[in-house]
Amino acid sequence: MPNRPTTDVTNQPDRPGSTTAVHAGERPFRSHNSLTVPIVQTAVYTFDTTEDLVTYTEDRLFWSEPEREEYGRYGNPTVRAVEAKIAALEGAQDAIVVSSGMAAVTATLLMLLQPGQHFILTDNCYHSTLEFSQGFLKRYGIACSLVPFGDYAAIEQAIRPETRLIFSESPTNPFMRCLDFERLVELARRHNVLTVVDSTFATPYNLQPLRLGVDLVIHSLTKYLAGHNDVMAGAVAGRYDLTTPLRQMQGMLGNIVAPQTAYLILRGIKTLALRVERQNASGLAVARFLEGHPKVRRVWYPGLESHPDHAVAQATLRGGGGVVSFEVDGDVDRAHRFIDALRIPSIGPSLGGVETMVSPLAVMGYASVAPEERLALGIRDELVRLCIGIEETDDLIADLAQALDQI
Ligand SMILES: *Cc1c(COP(=O)(O)O)cnc(C)c1O
Repeated sequence: MPNRPTTDVTNQPDRPGSTTAVHAGERPFRSHNSLTVPIVQTAVYTFDTTEDLVTYTEDRLFWSEPEREEYGRYGNPTVRAVEAKIAALEGAQDAIVVSSGMAAVTATLLMLLQPGQHFILTDNCYHSTLEFSQGFLKRYGIACSLVPFGDYAAIEQAIRPETRLIFSESPTNPFMRCLDFERLVELARRHNVLTVVDSTFATPYNLQPLRLGVDLVIHSLTKYLAGHNDVMAGAVAGRYDLTTPLRQMQGMLGNIVAPQTAYLILRGIKTLALRVERQNASGLAVARFLEGHPKVRRVWYPGLESHPDHAVAQATLRGGGGVVSFEVDGDVDRAHRFIDALRIPSIGPSLGGVETMVSPLAVMGYASVAPEERLALGIRDELVRLCIGIEETDDLIADLAQALDQI
């Protein structure tokens, strides 16, 4: 087992909060008595003597991860601190930080799947994940079955002898579908297939999939974890037997993050619990407000009793998060007029940062999808995704109210 340094000032509670977010993973990587983890801006690490080099090489052969670095593509102390912090937050043995959320998804699938193998993907997933799974991986002789989210019998029926894994998300984008982890993990174990869950929308504050038996968890750090809409990165967390080959592959593929980026992620994560608590509270209040508004046709939010996965969400999530999807009652023009009347949110594609964002999904993210196919995915022209930041809840509701009044 690699000798990753661990800092357990927090005792890694089942539900990680700010103590873990602020302190975990940082101490082994400080130097010069610095309180914060330094940005170690180097591509190359040197050895004082050839003996030091020989010791390092022996260490590396014995432990897959030595305590010092050699070359920037294989590791950096600032990046290691992010990895240790994410591992602590997820209750994981190890975490790997890569250049984007998609880099985390693609590297994980490339590492786990061989030509001739098959995997199962649940629908209503991140669109680039779907394109990679059904398009790109096909060239390498890897087959993918897309099954409806929430249909566990369909997942089980799709399992074949060559099935290696089930890839899912929770909560999903944009309908916030939530996994019943007990059912998923039970059936996966019975058939000896791995489970990989993209938990970007939940964050480790709201959900820790590894503690529920999932094998690997993936995050787009670009969203809630970094949290400030200013950097791109991704992470994969899990057991050493799965993360070690992924780390070796990262050394070849080179999908790494720069030390400056790693520092911003560390800094962002320190306020994760505070931000997500606010986003959970605002998410529920906004969802209830919208559900009660006559100009809103339908709202999807796991904290609402009307959501199809309300029961499993209540049982597994600490909060419903900051994404609320809804249909404006009317046509596309009316939905767009509503969006244009909003003052606080910016129109844009992302989520999870401190600024509230609003996306008319049919023309953002799904613009390249044919209209009939879009409808089949449930993406109507009047569908609006609101990704709540950390502004005052009352200000957001007042803004939504005035925009709805204008249509
Ligand atoms: C944004 C997102 C991704 C992709 O992450 P990037 O950092 O943009 O590459 C993957 N999965 C989910 C659920 C996302 O929201």
